[in-house]
Amino acid sequence: MLQDNIFLKIINKQIPAAIVYEDDCCLAFKDINPKAPTHVLIIPRQVIATHADITEADRDLLGHLHIVAAKLAQQLGLSEGYRLVVNCKEQAGQTVPHLHFHLLGGRVMGWPPG
Ligand code: 5GP
Repeated sequence: MLQDNIFLKIINKQIPAAIVYEDDCCLAFKDINPKAPTHVLIIPRQVIATHADITEADRDLLGHLHIVAAKLAQQLGLSEGYRLVVNCKEQAGQTVPHLHFHLLGGRVMGWPPG
């Protein structure tokens, strides 16, 4: 079920998070309930509720998020590989209504996901 946008509280520093990267348009922080040895969430500061809500106007932002993900993967030592996941809407398991990339690594992963 989609909950309140708790990520806005992290962006506004109203609740703490283990932030590993931030810039003018995005930030990245450790997932509170990690599913892999490395599990970081990369989010835009701008509220985009779901992946289905992205538009042409978000082209540069999305490219930036991918570049940040690739750089973070390198910095976090994921040279053997990593998985970048976007859960879109409830059926795919999205719980927070704020676009986020899960950057997961540090273990072998199965396919397909559950
Ligand atoms: P989703 O299920 O929407 O794709 O992913 C939401 C993610 O946010 C989950 O992996 C969950 O563990 C993480 N999460 C939820 N609340 C918090 C929080 O308050 N702090 C942090 N760091 N992660 C959170």
